[in-house]
Amino acid sequence: MASDGQTILTDHYRYFHAFDPATGILECESGVLLKDIQDTFIPQGWMLPVTPGTQLISVGGAIANDIHGKNHHVRGNFGHHVISLELLRSDLNVIHCSRYENAALFFATLGGIGLTGLILRVKIQLLALQSVLLDVEYLNFRGVAEFIALAKQSEPWEYTVSWIDCLSGKNVRGIFMRANHQTRSESNTHPTPLNNKTKKIPFTPAISCINTLSLKAFNHLYYQVNKTPRVIQQHLYQFQYPLDAIENWNVLYGQKGFYQYQYVIPMQSAQDAIEDMLELIYAAQQGSFLVVLKSFGDLASEGMLSFPMQGLTLALDFPNLGQKTLTLFKQLDQIVAQAKGRLYLAKDARMSRDLFFATYPHAEAFKNYRDPAISSDMSKRLFGY
Ligand SMILES: Cc1cc2nc3c(=O)[nH]c(=O)nc-3n(C[C@H](O)[C@H](O)[C@H](O)COP(=O)(O)OP(=O)(O)OC[C@H]3O[C@@H](n4cnc5c(N)ncnc54)[C@H](O)[C@@H]3O)c2cc1C
Repeated sequence: MASDGQTILTDHYRYFHAFDPATGILECESGVLLKDIQDTFIPQGWMLPVTPGTQLISVGGAIANDIHGKNHHVRGNFGHHVISLELLRSDLNVIHCSRYENAALFFATLGGIGLTGLILRVKIQLLALQSVLLDVEYLNFRGVAEFIALAKQSEPWEYTVSWIDCLSGKNVRGIFMRANHQTRSESNTHPTPLNNKTKKIPFTPAISCINTLSLKAFNHLYYQVNKTPRVIQQHLYQFQYPLDAIENWNVLYGQKGFYQYQYVIPMQSAQDAIEDMLELIYAAQQGSFLVVLKSFGDLASEGMLSFPMQGLTLALDFPNLGQKTLTLFKQLDQIVAQAKGRLYLAKDARMSRDLFFATYPHAEAFKNYRDPAISSDMSKRLFGY
């Protein structure tokens, strides 16, 4: 979005064009929501191979941030499953791109934050689905080293993710969740999407409901309730997209809103860097309940500006406390840069140009594939135009 320009909306661009039930290849428009695809094709035994923590995003948005999910270690990024796409450039040419045709433009568009043109149509490979029911195992851990050991041991699981208590310091406590689709024949009969009704928070509180006191109480309670190892059965939607059940969860941060801060650190330096950052966050007594620690697998990202690399990624939400929060981010940025990690553009609203160019090695080359008539506030901050 550019605050001084026009924004292109794709929400009317929401048709399916073709689907082959023998191969699972879907051709659709870029404004189709991931939820539209899942609700339509899960009953036919096909699902999206990679989805983020919400299904309420478009196919175009999923490509433009080359999003990742809880199964990155198995299936990589969304882009890995895109076969081809059509890109409308501002000179009105429509360019067909794939790994074999206009490949450089294809790789610039995966994770290209909308700057290479408007994605019109997309061909995606769906994944055959065994069951919408998952067996989800809960385990607890103490410290980043224990998390790393659990993540390694859990590589055969389809989904892995963990919650951590961001105010528990360097020797962090957390809940590790790993899940597989059920294969039992009784759970395979009628794969149906979950018809979950959304709840709505009726008003925006004047100040954030998330402060040190409420956070400590909530984290204590969540850890106590979930620390006992157990296996439960959950619908795919409940496990994958819990926030989709609350229509406007973000208003809990009050009228000043919140920042998201997500980074990835290569595996060699991940433990030290994450421990240092957790100490800083503890000292600053900032953070929120929504803190996700996850390992990325070794499938290399294809997009020139794609975020994932093999290592650990930590995603945190922070209530906006003004300068106090921005000062903490500056300190965290330094550790990310020293550890040769990077911040996720999808969650960023403040990264400096220097940090961007220092941590995204293909940023300079990416400029060659930009559409000259397309820009955004993010582009102006990161590229200067
Ligand atoms: C609750 C929640 C959980 C999330 N969890 C995850 C997660 O687990 N993993 C993850 O990777 N991300 C996650 N995200 C981030 C989200 O997946 C990305 O921000 C996604 O790109 C949003 O897509 P959108 O359709 O809303 O697009 P927008 O937010 O509108 O746009 C995102 C980008 O896509 C570009 N774009 C959109 N459509 C097109 C098009 N047709 N052509 C060209 N460019 C286009 C825009 O220019 C912009 O740069 C989460 C977000 C939320 C709200």
